[in-house]
Amino acid sequence: MSRRLPVAGSAAVRRRFGELAREHRRVLTWVTVVQVVSALAAVAVPRVLGALVDMVRSGAGRADVARVVVVLAVLALAHALLAGVGEYGARVLGERVFASLREHLVSTVIHLPLSAVEDAGTGDLLGRTTHDLGRLQYLVQRGVSQILVIVLTVLSVFLAAVLTSPLLSPALLLPALLLVPVLRWYLPRAVPAYRAEGALWAVVEATVAETAEQAVTVDALGLGRLRARVFDHRLTQVWSVERYTMWLRIWMMGAVTAVLLSPVVAVVAWGAWLMGRGQATLGAVTTLALYAFSLREPLSQATFWLDLVQSAGAAMARVVGVDLVEPDRPPAVGTGGQAVGQAVRLRHVRYSYVAGHEVLHDVSLDLVPGERLAVVGPSGAGKSTLGRMLAGIHPPTSGSVSVGGTELTALSEADLHRQVVLVTQEHHVFAASLADNLRLARPGATDAELRRALDAVGALEWVTGLGDGLDTGVGSGGLTLTPGQAQQVALARVVLMDPAMVVLDEATSLMDPASAQEAEHVLDAVLRGRTVVAIAHRLRTAADADRVAVVMDGRVVELGSHDQLVALGGHYASLWRSWQSG
Ligand code: ADP
Repeated sequence: MSRRLPVAGSAAVRRRFGELAREHRRVLTWVTVVQVVSALAAVAVPRVLGALVDMVRSGAGRADVARVVVVLAVLALAHALLAGVGEYGARVLGERVFASLREHLVSTVIHLPLSAVEDAGTGDLLGRTTHDLGRLQYLVQRGVSQILVIVLTVLSVFLAAVLTSPLLSPALLLPALLLVPVLRWYLPRAVPAYRAEGALWAVVEATVAETAEQAVTVDALGLGRLRARVFDHRLTQVWSVERYTMWLRIWMMGAVTAVLLSPVVAVVAWGAWLMGRGQATLGAVTTLALYAFSLREPLSQATFWLDLVQSAGAAMARVVGVDLVEPDRPPAVGTGGQAVGQAVRLRHVRYSYVAGHEVLHDVSLDLVPGERLAVVGPSGAGKSTLGRMLAGIHPPTSGSVSVGGTELTALSEADLHRQVVLVTQEHHVFAASLADNLRLARPGATDAELRRALDAVGALEWVTGLGDGLDTGVGSGGLTLTPGQAQQVALARVVLMDPAMVVLDEATSLMDPASAQEAEHVLDAVLRGRTVVAIAHRLRTAADADRVAVVMDGRVVELGSHDQLVALGGHYASLWRSWQSG
């Protein structure tokens, strides 16, 4: 939980908004044009009303008045229609922009380097994909159109006011002037507070996720009260920041409401004075007073959205931040896979999860293609770390892990998976059809290929027996697979990925000995012809391997065949003796 995922700066956030605007340029332009026309129709109404006042004062006839009333009705109708169409377009735009945002985030998250996710903790990522995305959702879906309408309305009202009466129109600027100190007080406080709020929510999400994931441990060790206290503490922190931002909002809203009353008063007072000097007509004052009044609604909405923009901006910075994680491997290009079937070499590999705590010290190892290497040693010696290094999950801190002369970290994700797959005891079954669960491993696989893979792991029979066969829904909400079946599905994925090398880390350690033996038979079939590195918990596995590597304190201390190592009379020999006698 050391390094958090990056948070984007405002330049990166603006760039991302720019990209989104370009991506949806057509709908955006269309919506803007419709909204501009609608706003113009709206500002024409007070103008015509003002003209009507002056006409009546100067004794216009009934027919003229009737004509003006028809014009008014047409304008109002046009405004209503266009506003409706514009709103529809804006909602479509909002949905599309949000969909792009979410799809982009999901695809980035899927390809994040595992090490970055592990460093940051899953809670951080979970917070960004749920809480932060949720805060953005409302702004993008509703705010885009509202803000567009507000900006256009305010601009067109100002423009119309200047055209109606240049002398009177400055009175409308009063709220803008008064808003400046209010915003200068508010913004520097709100932005950091909203960022802190986002980070604290991530911690809360992490606490919930961690407690739920580790529920068994929490229960077993009676940690319930302790977890509840930790949770209370974190919620108290969130609560105090939320209280602070709420307080900021209340003061800002109060000030804004007061400010918004000012232009109506100013127009009437200033207008009366100008009329006394014969420099404005009653019609013009009426128009401007109506304009001043019509600004109240959009301006008060503007402050609501401004506030939301602040909090969504902080959320966006965290969402865009996910893009800034340094990729640990190049994007997929060309044919690739050229290294398949060649030897994997470790040279002077050192690895530290945390700087200053080296877990692997100067490990060098050559794998012979097609061999089966067992890795044994005490718990905490670094076996899993070595396995992850071989599987290309972590780049070595120093030294090199290469296949056929190419560094594993220089392979694209697709090429890496053609080369090596890590199989652990975590067999996750996703809530989807069985076929979809398998196609995760090879998206283009045909049903026949899926069946062949299931057959190879001995699962075809029970799958055919299911009502809907491959289309049966599994995982939460669907059919619950037994641990054995889940493991078969995981192994069928390995068959579909068809890697040259498989690293097995405790793949069968959680199973009872009988099922483990059965699973290992299945594994044998799956693994035939591939290079296998088996992190062994049963020395039986080690005795069957071509070679055994003994890892102690982050070093390979013995390497050779079972017989050689027994004859050597070192660590392995004593482990073997104690296992046989035990
Ligand atoms: P083994 O598989 O032999 O039991 P590991 O490779 O899991 O050993 O662990 C080797 C050392 O690295 C241990 O001291 C362990 O505490 C440490 N370690 C393992 N995973 C992490 C991690 N994600 N972060 C920090 N230290 C770790």
